Amino acid sequence: MATATAKPNPYRSAKYVISAHRLAQLPDDTGCEVAFSGRSNAGKSSAINLLTDQKSLARTSKTPGRTQQIIIFELDAQRRIVDLPGYGYAKVPAKLRAHWKEVLQAYFANRHSLKGVVVIMDIRHPMRPFDQQMLAWCQAHDVPAHIVLTKADKLKRGPAQATLLGVLKSLPDCFSVQTFSAKSGAGLNTLIDRLNPWYGLESSNPQHGDCTAGPTHDKPSGPTGSTT
Ligand code: GDP
Repeated sequence: MATATAKPNPYRSAKYVISAHRLAQLPDDTGCEVAFSGRSNAGKSSAINLLTDQKSLARTSKTPGRTQQIIIFELDAQRRIVDLPGYGYAKVPAKLRAHWKEVLQAYFANRHSLKGVVVIMDIRHPMRPFDQQMLAWCQAHDVPAHIVLTKADKLKRGPAQATLLGVLKSLPDCFSVQTFSAKSGAGLNTLIDRLNPWYGLESSNPQHGDCTAGPTHDKPSGPTGSTT
């Protein structure tokens, strides 16, 4: 898959590990992990595939509601990408929605290795109730969040910028937001720069980063907006 990055990309090493229906099935709670959340069809799988430079690591689908597991990808023994189920969709049975609400709430509350959450939103439909729920859990448990407004190629620059600023204004200080397009690759470098510190990786030389385990979540210094 073509990428727009000339930077080192430590996410290319991502490998599928396991799909979990319950928290007990997750790998040991050590090292660093970053969770990717998003409503079904928002573009989460496409964003993960672009990030990892792998065409079909995360499955993409035109059928909303298909991803119904917590999927773990490993970068190395201490670093994981966690693909959360996009359960906020009307056709997901109420019982399953209730299951995931409970599981994810417990995950946000108790997962010590969770260093940050990327909330993927379709730039044309940002901040839906499901997204707000994710952000509320992040805030409640002191987990930093980064919003990726994807499918930016579907909007002209002016409306995309207006949406970015509107979302930025509504966020608490420790959250950040950017525009993105899995189709063009725009915003990939910004995403990598945002993720690297959560994984204890440096942008310029990822091999020298140090991943620290523990219950303390690193907080970004303040809100940022980017239209790269
Ligand atoms: P998920 O359900 O959130 O994992 O969403 P997918 O990644 O499967 O994407 C849903 C649909 O949106 C698919 O048809 C993708 O091809 C499309 N899509 C995803 N990202 C982009 C993007 O940045 N630009 C455009 N134009 N389409 C996208």
